Amino acid sequence: MAERDFDVVINGGGMVGLALALALRGGGLRVALVEARLPEPWRREQMQNRVSSLTLASQRLLERLGVWGALEAARVSPFEAIHAWDAGAGIHFHARDLGEPWLGHIVENGLLQQTLFDAVQGASETTVFAPAAIERVRREDDGTVHIRLDDGRRLRSRLLVGADGARSAVREWAGIGLRQHDYRQRGVVATIRTERHHGLVARQRFLSGGPLALLPLADGRCSIVWSLPEDEAEAVLGMDDEAFHRALGDASQQVLGAVVHSESRAAFPLRAMHAERYVSPGFALVGDAAHVIHPLAGQGVNLGFLDAAGLAQVLVQAAGSGRDPGGLATLRRYERWRRGDNQLMQSAMDGFHWLFSNRDPVRGLVRNLGFALTDRAGPVKRRLMEYAVGLRGDLPALARVGSADPGVTI
Ligand SMILES: Cc1cc2nc3c(=O)[nH]c(=O)nc-3n(C[C@H](O)[C@H](O)[C@H](O)COP(=O)(O)OP(=O)(O)OC[C@H]3O[C@@H](n4cnc5c(N)ncnc54)[C@H](O)[C@@H]3O)c2cc1C
Repeated sequence: MAERDFDVVINGGGMVGLALALALRGGGLRVALVEARLPEPWRREQMQNRVSSLTLASQRLLERLGVWGALEAARVSPFEAIHAWDAGAGIHFHARDLGEPWLGHIVENGLLQQTLFDAVQGASETTVFAPAAIERVRREDDGTVHIRLDDGRRLRSRLLVGADGARSAVREWAGIGLRQHDYRQRGVVATIRTERHHGLVARQRFLSGGPLALLPLADGRCSIVWSLPEDEAEAVLGMDDEAFHRALGDASQQVLGAVVHSESRAAFPLRAMHAERYVSPGFALVGDAAHVIHPLAGQGVNLGFLDAAGLAQVLVQAAGSGRDPGGLATLRRYERWRRGDNQLMQSAMDGFHWLFSNRDPVRGLVRNLGFALTDRAGPVKRRLMEYAVGLRGDLPALARVGSADPGVTI
């Protein structure tokens, strides 16, 4: 079978790989996407337990990729405030302090993936191989990457991008090492109904075992992510509904009254990972293939979307000036841009984890002081919020406020 020629082959059609494929549209590059599994069709009548809290930067990116309208028409859940607290002090953020209607939206992962997948399939310049998996990869001295799929089809590309998640095969083929540590925690997720309406507030309580997030859904329910030590997570999974609701009510200090109903309880292991490099000649990593962070700030896929937009910007600029998309000079621009930002976020999450996952009274004092000072310090709080929701920072053009024109070259 003859080899088919591409400039960029993306391995992995999760949320990040699909966003990258869309961001490359119209950029003068021949793009293919390989995904092992077709997305499960999203169903309106079933609220999924895997959701993402999307920043305003991610929303802007999805608008510019042309999918936000379809997401809104299906189901997105906006929130206008964030309240985080532990046993002592707390901190509040409100959208009106930034002059914005919302601080972000909760969206089901399955809906995001399905909507992005439909858009990629509808884009004539992207070739989708799904379901399919890469069986073999070989990079020649001339920089060509030869790829064989498990159904025998063969592709040839200048660049192979790993958007294939935490256990990325592309990372291995590229010979890129990994730093990782296991939090020995699991994230228990579920959809719950409480006595009181959430009032469009995303809440997070920091507990010594790990944080509990109550994410507001459009129908008045909440999606929870409760990070717990492994044995406690196991115990929570095994509880009957009544005991589970009681435990959740205690953990949330009944902030929304009693928990009256829950469904779709499940748990996911939590670990931190960072690839030692994001690129090597002919290869690049985006999303969870490059970094996995603790879900306590709900930033994982948001960072992945910024990787996708950043890499697309660098590749399209390279194509425009006749440079090789798989060349190290091109790829290093992307790595320099995104790795530092992601490392900062990962360190911040580790710091939070260290500060909060402990009953040590000194750490308790630091927490309370930090909360109280930040809550009162207007400009500091505003700055923090602007970064967290994606109004500030060195954002790719597609995610920036104002024009989506890349303007200056990175
Ligand atoms: C409990 C929990 C809560 C979270 N909450 C949030 C949140 O609120 N906000 C947020 O931003 N993030 C959150 N995250 C993180 C977020 O879910 C991830 O960052 C995100 O899913 C990563 O997307 P991805 O596309 O990079 O990878 P994945 O979602 O892992 O997608 C990888 C894709 O590649 C495919 N694939 C893998 N291997 C191959 C192969 N060899 N060949 C072909 N295809 C392959 C897979 O089928 C999959 O479709 C949370 C994570 C957890 C665990």
